[in-house]
Parts: sequence; structure tokens; C-alpha cells
Amino acid sequence: MLCVAQAAAPKADNNSGKRSKNRMTTPQNTAIAWKPADPPLADTRGRPLRDLRISVTDRCNFRCTYCMPKEVYGRDFQFLERSQLLNFDEVHRLVKIFRRHGIEKVRITGGEPLVRRQLEKLIEMLAQEPGLDLTLTTNGSLLKQKAQALKDAGLTRVTVSLDSLDDAVFRGMNDVDFPVAKVLEGIEEADRVGLKPLKVNMVVKRGTNDQSVVDMARFFKGSGHILRFIEFMDVGHTNGWQMGHVVPSRELASRINAEFPIEPVDPNYIGEVAERWRYKDGSGEVGFISSVTQAFCKDCTRARLSAEGSLYTCLFATEGTDLRNLIRGGAGDEELSAAIARVWRARTDRYSEIRTADTVKLRKVEMSYIGG
Ligand code: SAM
Ligand code: SF4
Ligand code: SF4
Repeated sequence: MLCVAQAAAPKADNNSGKRSKNRMTTPQNTAIAWKPADPPLADTRGRPLRDLRISVTDRCNFRCTYCMPKEVYGRDFQFLERSQLLNFDEVHRLVKIFRRHGIEKVRITGGEPLVRRQLEKLIEMLAQEPGLDLTLTTNGSLLKQKAQALKDAGLTRVTVSLDSLDDAVFRGMNDVDFPVAKVLEGIEEADRVGLKPLKVNMVVKRGTNDQSVVDMARFFKGSGHILRFIEFMDVGHTNGWQMGHVVPSRELASRINAEFPIEPVDPNYIGEVAERWRYKDGSGEVGFISSVTQAFCKDCTRARLSAEGSLYTCLFATEGTDLRNLIRGGAGDEELSAAIARVWRARTDRYSEIRTADTVKLRKVEMSYIGG
């Protein structure tokens, strides 16, 4: 049985031995000192709970072939009803309880978070949380219209997904014929209103968009935006993942290095998902997210809350814990807090370290539901 993580290319010689102990200080958390109320939680492998990714909807206006293939997410697909979604008060309440356990960073995601009506109201509520590093991942399609409202609501930065600058390739990958130009307009508007540093995520799939990698690097080099390459993952069980579709980050780094010399940089904090590299000419940096070829489970501090309020402790989970049921059944904060603590203390997840041809076939929860 092939364990993909073991079959990974050797690590490059970088200087990650000098990992900084603390997270990068963001403009938000310099202003206010914040400490979790409860003693820190640790899972069975000693990993603390630090990050929460919140899916605010399972719906999306794209049908990216690697995430929500049309054959599965067609006209008849049953998305969650509005009443099944956590409302903004419920999300806010849970965030406050999660924070007692040490959550420092919240990422709003989906599905496509900007299709959730009045999302800026939720942002406004969460932005009041002292010292919280709050961010959002979007496909950028609605960003031109929404960037200013998000900024006004208190969002400070954003991550935009963009898989190619080649219009035909991009339209084919989002599978709804959405043009590159409109995403670029969204990025420009986010930049203009000050949602920075802006990160751009590119999922690389061999034979589909890997020929776009150097063009993307060239385009974003010197822009102040940080381009990050994500290895195509076997999330969910509908995207037809095969190891042959994965372009290892090492290969991408050497392709970029051949055009624009790059060198590794220290991570900002333990558990940072992207490995950082910078252009030797000082024109910015790129990141590589290598969940397949260089598993980073040992430092994984991320929990995920689905749009209907289930708690998951791994992106590749098959089951979650229903917190909405507790909330709507009248549970108090202490009960919710204890439920979260129980789940985290029992956590054993390390999927990317133990991925095999068999685990790939598991009925894992879809990324659009659990939150990317
Ligand atoms: N709709 C938003 C977007 O696309 O940015 C947010 C949700 S999306 C699930 C979050 C991130 O997951 C995106 O950057 C997307 O490209 C990435 N993603 C989705 N499916 C993936 C897969 N199979 N492998 C790697 N990354 C994936
Ligand atoms: Fe939608 Fe994002 Fe998934 Fe693409 S990656 S289908 S934009 S949720
Ligand atoms: Fe974390 Fe699971 Fe990804 Fe490992 S596979 S890094 S435990 S989300």
C-alpha cells in the first residue's frame, strides 16, 4: 500500500529550524492583549486548538471540477435549507466559546462565503472580538461589489482563489464559464480598499492548469500579493482524485526557481500551513501548501465548523459533532464549552500522514460543506 506522505519528495534545505514561537502580529491584535479564559486544550497528540474555519454556506456559484463537480452538484442537489444554517448570533456565540479554549484566528469560508446574504453583518460582529485574527477565503466573483462593505465591517485581509490567468483554462475549471478578468477586478478592489496582505490561492492539477504556474508567478510577483500553490487534495469523495494529478510543491518550486530565483523563508509561526519562499530579487514571496507530499499534521491546530453547526477536527473527517442541536436544545455556554473540549481532547487526526490508496476511497465530508 502506498503512503503518499512517505513517497514525498525530499524536503528542501530550508531554515525552518528557527521557527518562531508566536504567531505573526497582525494589525488587529497589536491593539489589544487577549488571553484565553480556560486552561489550554490539547488533543491526544498534544496539539492545541488555535484556528477555527467556519463555513457559512454549502452553496457556491462556481462548480470547480476539483471541489463541486457538476455531475454531483447538479440541479437536483439538495443544499442545506436556510433554517438549517447557523444564524449569525449562533456563530458569534460559538466563536466566543471557542475563544475561551484558545482560538486566535477565524477564517470565514464555504462554499462561497460571499453568497451568504449580509455576510458583512457577521464580519461586523466577529470583528468586535478583541485580538481576533479574522479573515475570509473567497472565489473572488463577488468581491468587486463586496470589498468595501467587508472592509467597513472590520475585515482586514482576504484570500482569493484563482487557478489560472488563462481565461479558457479558468472558465473550464470553475465550470460556470466565469472569466478571469472579473476575479482580477475583485482583487484590485480588495487592494484598493485596503484588505491586505492579500493572498491568492491556486490549486494545481497536473494536465489541467500546471502550465499556468509560471505565468501566475510572473503576474503576482512585485504586486504585494502573496501567491500560494496548493497541491490537489483527495478531499471529499467526489472529485476523482488520483496521485497522478498532484504536482508536488518541490516540482513547482523548481519550475518557478528556473525563471525567478527563490529561497526559503522561516515560517511566521508553528503550524503555518504554507511553506514560505521569497524572490531573491526582493519582489515578494510565494507559498506552497503541500498537504499531499509533505504532511503537516503534527502541528495542525485547526478545527472546522460546518454551515449547519457540526464540529470537525480534520479536513478529511468522515464524521462531525452536532453543536447546533445542543444550541437549539437550550444548552448553556458551559455545556457547549465542555462539548468542544471533549471533542478536541479526543482528537487523533493525522490523515495526511497516513493517506493510502484505501483511505482515498473513504466517504469523507465534502470540502464545500466542511469549509476549505
Ligand atoms: N469558495 C471559496 C474559494 O474557492 O476560495 C472558499 C471555499 S474553497 C472550498 C477553499 C479553498 O479550497 C479554495 O482555495 C479552493 O481552491 C481549495 N480547494 C477546494 N478543493 C480542493 C482540492 N480538492 N484540493 C486542494 N484545494 C482545494
Ligand atoms: Fe466553490 Fe470554492 Fe469549491 Fe470552487 S473551490 S466550487 S469556488 S467552494
Ligand atoms: Fe490537519 Fe487533518 Fe490536514 Fe492533518 S490532514 S493537517 S490533521 S486537517
